[in-house]
Amino acid sequence: MAKTPQDVLRMIEEQDIKIIDLKFIDMPGIWQHCSFHRSLIDESSFTEGVAFDGSSIRGWKAINASDMAMVPDPDTAWIDPFMEVPTLSMICSIVEPRTNEPYDRCPRVIAKKAVEFLASTGLGDTAFFGPEPEFFMFDSVEYDQTMNSSYYKVDSAEGLWNTGRTEAGGNLGYKIRNKQGYFPVPPLDSFQDIRTEMLLTMADCGVPIEKHHHEVATGGQAELGIKFGKLIEAADYVMTYKYVVKNVARRYGKTVTFMPKPIFGDNGTGMHTHQSIWKDGQPMFAGDKYAGLSQMALHYIGGLLKHAPALLAITNPTTNSYKRLVPGFEAPVNLAYSQGNRSASIRIPLSGTNPKAKRLEFRCPDPTCNPYLAFAAMLMAGIDGIKNQIDPGEPLDVDIYELSPEELAKVPSAPGSLMESLENLKNDHDFLLAGGVFTEDFINTWITYKLNNEAIPMNIRPHPYEFSLY
Ligand code: GLN
Ligand code: MG
Ligand code: MG
Ligand code: MG
Repeated sequence: MAKTPQDVLRMIEEQDIKIIDLKFIDMPGIWQHCSFHRSLIDESSFTEGVAFDGSSIRGWKAINASDMAMVPDPDTAWIDPFMEVPTLSMICSIVEPRTNEPYDRCPRVIAKKAVEFLASTGLGDTAFFGPEPEFFMFDSVEYDQTMNSSYYKVDSAEGLWNTGRTEAGGNLGYKIRNKQGYFPVPPLDSFQDIRTEMLLTMADCGVPIEKHHHEVATGGQAELGIKFGKLIEAADYVMTYKYVVKNVARRYGKTVTFMPKPIFGDNGTGMHTHQSIWKDGQPMFAGDKYAGLSQMALHYIGGLLKHAPALLAITNPTTNSYKRLVPGFEAPVNLAYSQGNRSASIRIPLSGTNPKAKRLEFRCPDPTCNPYLAFAAMLMAGIDGIKNQIDPGEPLDVDIYELSPEELAKVPSAPGSLMESLENLKNDHDFLLAGGVFTEDFINTWITYKLNNEAIPMNIRPHPYEFSLY
């Protein structure tokens, strides 16, 4: 049952809440917040919103037109487990003050428009998303050492690049080796209690939890499993997930990073995203075609694969994202689909005979993406595939990493850099503009922001590895 504004106001009263913390997502995908005394929040806050200055928010308004309002979604209310003073948290969407028009650069507004666009096409009424964010946990000391120059030096004995990471307080013996973290029991896995605390805390914040485990990479890479949800709900879960994980880690003197490739030579961090479309309570992706998919699902795959070179500028939006998309680490490199094949960028999980579980898993995204924009963009690529009946080609039921160069040449590959995917997005974004979901203004702002603040500054800096090479 969805919570109403009255439910929230009652909760504030009954639980003697002192502070209401309103959160919203900025364009790059980071939560921003402002806290209000309880007396400032009433029923009108849920319709008119609460005013704030949007001029200092990355990618948003100029200082001369900076007034904005945030409208809390009552359904996202939870009591912040990290605050001493009783504090109620809510996630907001942004509107223009006075007119109350949804602000078209607000990622949550864009996500809402994508959901409405799906309904307007008549193809479905609900898009489900099941993200699987992974992350690394480092001791603060250990983390700093990754910036030490030894990180980039060759360990000639093994012919591997030495990560330069040592264990704080000496080597305790039980150390997970590179790519062997999935998933031995303690004492090798020394993160059990911290992951459990993260998972249970997340449940208190309304995220439906399923499981947790150590991930493939060494020392602390983890994944907490959460249940899929409707598009906006699932994006809200990702934001709460990140908040909880980082704040629990801090209690343990750890630092969490969602960087896709923090350690050279070991698995990276992805955010595989399961997706499906439903209509009138029926799963539209289940059918009698390849891997139990419907023709609609195959066309959706066609759309994802066709637009992937541009789509990755939103689902894999950092310079570091492309260091993950290399062969040999369970991360997708080639744009292909397959049942069960984890080297393909789209996998069709075996769901037994239950048509309700029929879905596809897009394996490219990583958790540096803004989940509202990423889910909206993937849905738009899929809808474009369905509307234009884009044929996804033949499935690739082999280990793509093992293909000969001739065979491999026939399979398109993911872009090699953020620069490349931004260039692709510049040339291919009509599928995002359909129904006014993304605006040309937003796409241009995104490309310019990413080029000027990330891709170009990274390119013009000498890299520590260049010192080793030259
Ligand atoms: N960490 C891997 C990735 O980068 C995935 C490993 C897994 O969950 N199977 O996508
Ligand atoms: Mg998983
Ligand atoms: Mg995983
Ligand atoms: Mg997965």
